[in-house]
Amino acid sequence: MPTDRLYYRDSFLCEFDGRVVESLPAEGRHAVVLDRTAFYPTSGGQVHDLGTIAFDGREVPVTEVADDEEGRVLHYVAEPIAVDTPIHGRIDKARRLDHIQQHTGQHILSAAFIDLFNMPTVSFHMGAETCTIDLQTTALSVAQAEKAERLANQVITEDRPVTIRFVPLEEARQLGLRKLPPKQTGDLRLIDIQNFDLCACGGTHVRSTGQIGCILVRKTEKVKQGVRVEFVCGQRAVAFAHKDYTALTEAAALFSSHIHDLPQQIKKTQDDAKAAGKIQHKLQEEIAILEAERMLARSSGSPKKIYAVFTDRDALFVKLLAQKLTESQPDVVALLASLAAQPTLVFAQSSGRKSHMGQLLKQTLSQLGGRGGGSADMAQGGFPEGTMDSHQLTQLLQEVSSRI
Ligand SMILES: [Zn+2]
Repeated sequence: MPTDRLYYRDSFLCEFDGRVVESLPAEGRHAVVLDRTAFYPTSGGQVHDLGTIAFDGREVPVTEVADDEEGRVLHYVAEPIAVDTPIHGRIDKARRLDHIQQHTGQHILSAAFIDLFNMPTVSFHMGAETCTIDLQTTALSVAQAEKAERLANQVITEDRPVTIRFVPLEEARQLGLRKLPPKQTGDLRLIDIQNFDLCACGGTHVRSTGQIGCILVRKTEKVKQGVRVEFVCGQRAVAFAHKDYTALTEAAALFSSHIHDLPQQIKKTQDDAKAAGKIQHKLQEEIAILEAERMLARSSGSPKKIYAVFTDRDALFVKLLAQKLTESQPDVVALLASLAAQPTLVFAQSSGRKSHMGQLLKQTLSQLGGRGGGSADMAQGGFPEGTMDSHQLTQLLQEVSSRI
């Protein structure tokens, strides 16, 4: 027998008495069916209630509530409860009120998008943090989203009555509902937001729109089936506004500016960082030229074989240095390593030489457990941190250079 759903008639009922009709084992839990319940099962985009069932002087938590195909409501608890046991159900009131606000807010927002732009809602999702509706449309501008949000909030402010009534399907068809359920037996449950929206729904709703508090549209994004609109209602909107404001205030304090000036402050910082990066690169290049001149002046032989390990210079500098060493003179081989940040090897030679730096680098890196490669004249690769210290690596490069 289908469960008598008390929330159909009163969305604010959070305590009730009932009797156990069935208690079924369900994967380590027990699904308890009652003759009547105020617990809302997950359906229509609205998530289930939480709460407790008290019986025989004890109280057990209800961790999930679901519909089954026979119209029964399953209350998941940790232990079985004997058939015919009288129970007292208690629903988490704050959670229910939050769901009521989000869910009825969705009715109004969906109706506003229809009313203003003829964009139907194709799906609704209520998450733990935010809610979303997917609109059937190819595009939605910021101005349109704001207009729908404004209309929805106006309907909330007007505190219009929200009433429930049950009508036969035929009659419902003639009423011009925003949406009809796909399959239905018996009377339809209609939710009527006075002179604004009429739709068939089995969810929990406010008594008048003022109870929603407000609607805040947070963002919109293009999805496969249209445009997704993320929103929050009531206390969630206030909580989100607080969270956003706190984050903005902390960010503004870092810039010693007002929160409204943050975008231009961030833009300025990015521009400054970009300019500083360019200057730094130019300086690195100048240092690399000077270092290369110094190293070349100190070395002799043919070819000039230069090997060095840098602990305070990064891979970028070592690569620049290898270029400068091998560009300015013929017959130079440079075997360089950086141990700063990500350990790196750079092998290079002046063009026209016969050796192959790419192959030599691969052989050397295989000893270090690293990977890399390159051309005959320039090769680069990395190896795991802590493989060798500066002294050991210098010895290795010396040994490699002696084989050239
Ligand atoms: Zn509803």
